[in-house]
Amino acid sequence: MTRNSDCVFCKIVSVEIPASVVYEDESLICFLDHNPLSPGHLLIVTREHYVKLTELPSDVSSKVGSVLPLAGRALLEVTGAKGFNVLCNEGAVAGQLVQHVHFHLIPRFEGDKLGYRWVAGSYEEGKAAQLTDAFQQAFTASS
Ligand code: 5GP
Ligand code: ZN
Repeated sequence: MTRNSDCVFCKIVSVEIPASVVYEDESLICFLDHNPLSPGHLLIVTREHYVKLTELPSDVSSKVGSVLPLAGRALLEVTGAKGFNVLCNEGAVAGQLVQHVHFHLIPRFEGDKLGYRWVAGSYEEGKAAQLTDAFQQAFTASS
């Protein structure tokens, strides 16, 4: 099991520090964020120490894919939320503070004032086509 002795989420996985764990399996652990954006804010964390989503082997990322809807259904039932946001902050520039891959599930309630809408842009002539071509090549190369 890959582990980083300086990592707070590795310490939670190995029960060195406490957390309010709501689910665990051979690949993942899910617990309450200790500074919730709303009550019931969950974190889904890999048992092994990977820093980023883009490092995950396919068996672990498949498990994330299957646990997300499970956790989402539990969150709606337990909190009474009307919906939730799923968030993965990938890299410091995206706001990743804990260097161990994790997925936030943030319960949303009518009038909760959490906000979300970022300022959206638009593409200059030709840019979307250029990006589409580059993405198609990148997907082909990495699949
Ligand atoms: P991010 O790295 O995506 O910015 O967010 C890290 C999240 O981990 C934060 O929402 C923070 O509140 C949560 N967090 C950091 N340390 C602990 C901890 O020791 N226990 C728990 N339960 N959550 C933590
Ligand atoms: Zn870790």
